[in-house]
Amino acid sequence: MADLEVPAARQLVDGDWTPAHDGAELSVIDPATGQDIQPVAAAGPADIDAAVAAARRAFPAWAATSPSERGAALRRWADLVLAHVEDLARHEAQDVGKPLSGGRLNIFIAHSIIEYFAGAADKLTGVTLPTRSRDYLGYTLLEPYGVCAVVIPWNVPAVLTAANVAPALAAGNTVVLKASEVAPLAPFALGELARRAGLPPGVLNVVTGLGPTAGAALTGHPGVDHISFVGSTGTGRAIMRAAAENLVPVKLELGGKSPNVLFADADLDVAVPAIVASITENAGQNCYAGSRLVVEDSIADAVVERVAEAMKAIRIGAWDRDLDMGPLVSEAQYRRVLGFLDEAPAAGAKLVTGGGPAATDDTGPGWYVAPTVFDRVDPGMRLVREEVFGPVLAVQRFSGTRQAVELMNDTDFGLLACVWTNDVSRALRVAQEVRAGQVAVNQFHDAGVIGFPFNMQKDSGFSRGGGYTALREYTQEKAVAIRLLDR
Ligand code: NAD
Repeated sequence: MADLEVPAARQLVDGDWTPAHDGAELSVIDPATGQDIQPVAAAGPADIDAAVAAARRAFPAWAATSPSERGAALRRWADLVLAHVEDLARHEAQDVGKPLSGGRLNIFIAHSIIEYFAGAADKLTGVTLPTRSRDYLGYTLLEPYGVCAVVIPWNVPAVLTAANVAPALAAGNTVVLKASEVAPLAPFALGELARRAGLPPGVLNVVTGLGPTAGAALTGHPGVDHISFVGSTGTGRAIMRAAAENLVPVKLELGGKSPNVLFADADLDVAVPAIVASITENAGQNCYAGSRLVVEDSIADAVVERVAEAMKAIRIGAWDRDLDMGPLVSEAQYRRVLGFLDEAPAAGAKLVTGGGPAATDDTGPGWYVAPTVFDRVDPGMRLVREEVFGPVLAVQRFSGTRQAVELMNDTDFGLLACVWTNDVSRALRVAQEVRAGQVAVNQFHDAGVIGFPFNMQKDSGFSRGGGYTALREYTQEKAVAIRLLDR
């Protein structure tokens, strides 16, 4: 385990673990105990300057490597990730508060993402274009942007590091990754493994620091050529303003309010556990969390009861107890979620289970919230309109496919929608009508599909992250037209 410690109060810039220029540090907190895990360097504008400069210096040589060489480097990185699953899982789990097996799963996902882009690096091609006569030739080149800024949140740091860094590097860009100040340990550890995999200094720089200082300095930096941002919709708007100043492209993956839409003909033995997992996994702190259950009237009472029973059975505890659910990531997040719980009954929602802090024998002094179900939630309530980011399920009832679609779409967000039905036509119809970047049928999310594009619509942002299309996201297209003079 000691093999992959994150150096205390350091950041990874230009291939070295260095302190912040002004020596500033941040404490990384274990949400299960409220205790410090370790300090990390808190980047300020001078550190961001140094990281962007290192990435810029490294760019020409990295872009000049062959795609196969870049793929090979990513494969070495992926292999090291696999060899350090337990260390990485510990960082991910302790830092975010998720059960160890949840952390381990995230590392396996991160590994498969890096491996995917290792294989895809030399499959990226432009096109030849049709011409008006044989005297002309036209084709496109896909070229890297240069220095990519990647800013990520705290909820799935290893997966988001892999999902944004690997395609950017595969396409020939260099990267400055600004990890969340709340959970930076897994990104730092992944950065160390990339270094050990032989990525040249400056190709991947990993820093953390507060959003308004480190994040704003990076996304507003004139040396950055492309911005990838994953986080809340509010911060996404600020990032887009920063991108406008420097006229650089921006990819936004923002919040969600994803519905599970359950028709009466669905297989409830499959659907109910998946619906419960979709809002309790990572304590509901996933962008695609199934935070709304839209259920057909005729089965609603029975389903709500089954869901509530399953929610009550969720075992809660610290990351190293490895139960079903951990605490929320921070005190701020805890207070925010309790605010939603306090206000919902007065606004007319019917509390079915939970509704406040969780206290069981398994919990320590951390920020635990009980898995919560509110039934008969009005579409206008904050519980439906806003992202809670906790284990809180809002139940809405419908009658008929038309109303189901109306409720699904009655949200500012457009990330994921899940449809549960045994009627194929209905499933296809709803998949067509729903305004979301991703649709799942009879399952929660993308299990079984390789390279599922992590697409967003509406206030969830716009991105073609995930899968092969992500490589396009990190390249710019150049068109070449040639006249053939030698007749
Ligand atoms: P956040 O927006 O507060 O912070 C995200 C990142 O942005 C952090 O690294 C933060 O330091 C940085 N940041 C904050 N202010 C900034 C600024 N002014 N300029 C530049 N950077 C700034 O989000 P969070 O609370 O860390 O994460 C939770 C949010 O992330 C939720 O809304 C969730 O839905 C979203 N999320 C989305 C996806 C997705 O793929 N759509 C995935 C995971 C999480």
